[in-house]
Amino acid sequence: MKKYDVAVVGGCAAGITAAIAVKRQNPELNIVIIEKLPRIGKKILATGNGRCNLTNLNAVCTDYKNPAFVSRVFEKYSPDKVIEFFESMGLLTYSDSEGRVYPGSNMAASVLDVLRYEVEGLGIDVICDTAVNQITKKNGGFTVNGEIECRKILLATGGKASPSQGSDGSGYSLATQLGHTVTKLYPSLVPLTASGAPKALKGVRARNVKLTLENGKVLKETKGELLFTDNGISGIAAMELAALAEESVSTVKVKTFTHIDFLPGMTEKELVNYLLKVKDIKEYCPMDMLFVGTLPKAIGIEICKAVKLYKQDKPISFLSYRDIACIAAKAKNYELEITGTKGFANAQVTSGGIPVSEINAETMESKLCKGLYFAGEITDVDAGCGGYNLQWAFASGLLAGENL
Ligand SMILES: Cc1cc2nc3c(=O)[nH]c(=O)nc-3n(C[C@H](O)[C@H](O)[C@H](O)COP(=O)(O)OP(=O)(O)OC[C@H]3O[C@@H](n4cnc5c(N)ncnc54)[C@H](O)[C@@H]3O)c2cc1C
Repeated sequence: MKKYDVAVVGGCAAGITAAIAVKRQNPELNIVIIEKLPRIGKKILATGNGRCNLTNLNAVCTDYKNPAFVSRVFEKYSPDKVIEFFESMGLLTYSDSEGRVYPGSNMAASVLDVLRYEVEGLGIDVICDTAVNQITKKNGGFTVNGEIECRKILLATGGKASPSQGSDGSGYSLATQLGHTVTKLYPSLVPLTASGAPKALKGVRARNVKLTLENGKVLKETKGELLFTDNGISGIAAMELAALAEESVSTVKVKTFTHIDFLPGMTEKELVNYLLKVKDIKEYCPMDMLFVGTLPKAIGIEICKAVKLYKQDKPISFLSYRDIACIAAKAKNYELEITGTKGFANAQVTSGGIPVSEINAETMESKLCKGLYFAGEITDVDAGCGGYNLQWAFASGLLAGENL
């Protein structure tokens, strides 16, 4: 039987960070990271399209689910502290205009490399190719898979989004073995499926739209990029609606819709006036050209088709004032029925997890099982795109490590 002071189950963003934090503070402790994949940190390599958007300078607790809990963690480990943590391992970062922070090399591999070398340098044991499937409490400590004993244990197994990166949801059953509950889980940051999504728009992007998700009452509004797919919508604005869309479709009897405002920077009246001006300037141009100054041509055509006013062989002058008003109204409110999401297999994040009411926000220790700690996505905390979820993984990992 191998014996450790601390065992970290799950070797990715939260687990590696926690192991480093605990070992830096207590070099005399024996720490082990147990990871089911052949190497630690696989998911980090996939983040930020291979660039790893590791935090966001603007991240505040209200960007997250369970903000009161997150606020107590961020009091100690704000985005600045996470950046400092990486600087302490020699990694420099830069941020873009939206506060998204990336490694100076623009490569996720750099983030993983500094973490891996720190783990090695500190003498933290790493056991890979080992899925933890059983944790039992014994003599005030824990036994892992019947083979490893430890005094304290951290569950940093992630959620069940993107299982090909190792996070297959097995951490939840480990937590329930130790007396915890798990909230309902929904895939988040994943494309939505929609009935009647126009096939002609597949692959077409709109840069800055406003989306409103509703099922009789407004559930959420987002702004940003929209991408039409073969059977639905993707892009940041759509993906940030996913968890609520999935919940609505699976639990509410009435239909769920998203309303697309393709031009949120203009009121409907301003849009009508703009289109009337276009009509004046381009009266002999084909209808395809009506939105060409503001939107991808294919979207303009689709909007005209949706109100049955598109005639390929007719010029813009063919449209009456009433027609223009009708087209403008559709551009401001294009409706799609949402039928679900592309599921956990394609999701970036899990919404739901170990209830924060079962975790001490000052330490990340379980309130139900002494010596058990949590960090990262396994907890019922998640947020939108832009570095927020890694910020949570690193911040909660640092806090758990400090207290382990
Ligand atoms: C494609 C993609 C891109 C993303 N891009 C970004 C981004 O740019 N910025 C951002 O903030 N967030 C991003 N995210 C989300 C972010 O990666 C996660 O929120 C974050 O990695 C969660 O960290 P974690 O350590 O809690 O869990 P995970 O990173 O999921 O790590 C859990 C680890 O535990 C291991 N494990 C699981 N079960 C067991 C078990 N039973 N025994 C042993 N080991 C186990 C897994 O193999 C895995 O290595 C992205 C996610 C994906 C999928």
